[in-house]
Amino acid sequence: MHFDHAAGTTFTDADGELALRYPNAVHHVQSAHWDWAWSPTLKDAGSFRREDFGKLASSPKLCLVDGEVEIAPSIKVFPLDGHTRAMQAVRIGSPGADLLFTADLVPTAAHLRWPYIMGFDNEPLTTLAEKQHWLSQAALGGTVLVFEHDPVIAAARLVENDRGGVQVGEQVSL
Ligand SMILES: [Zn+2]
Repeated sequence: MHFDHAAGTTFTDADGELALRYPNAVHHVQSAHWDWAWSPTLKDAGSFRREDFGKLASSPKLCLVDGEVEIAPSIKVFPLDGHTRAMQAVRIGSPGADLLFTADLVPTAAHLRWPYIMGFDNEPLTTLAEKQHWLSQAALGGTVLVFEHDPVIAAARLVENDRGGVQVGEQVSL
């Protein structure tokens, strides 16, 4: 629910009231993250703006989920805890032909190196463990990884390198 991800969920209508931008869309949110968004720490309070997500609280289109859930055929969501509590990642497809959107786990391709972790993150060592798990698995499985904040590389398949890490292999346009 960080502002740079959830902004656009609402807009100000002609009467000056906040309204959902996509009123028919089901909004899947990890319940642990939903709770955190309403009670963040001083460190991350600036990233949660209630005008972005507060309207969902009274909407039947809010669907709170816990852990890994298949929200539609071949579309799974699951939580990651390093960046912020229960940030939601999305996996689309099936093994061997899948795409992984990890939100801010790896915001740009420059963050692929294990220790390159954002100062924003609440739990950097958790981010490190999550990166090692998911990026190693992505490299092995040919998964397309999306870099949501990278101005140049939108997505790529990863390869393991000789330093025990992973790096961009083949870039993929979306
Ligand atoms: Zn972000």
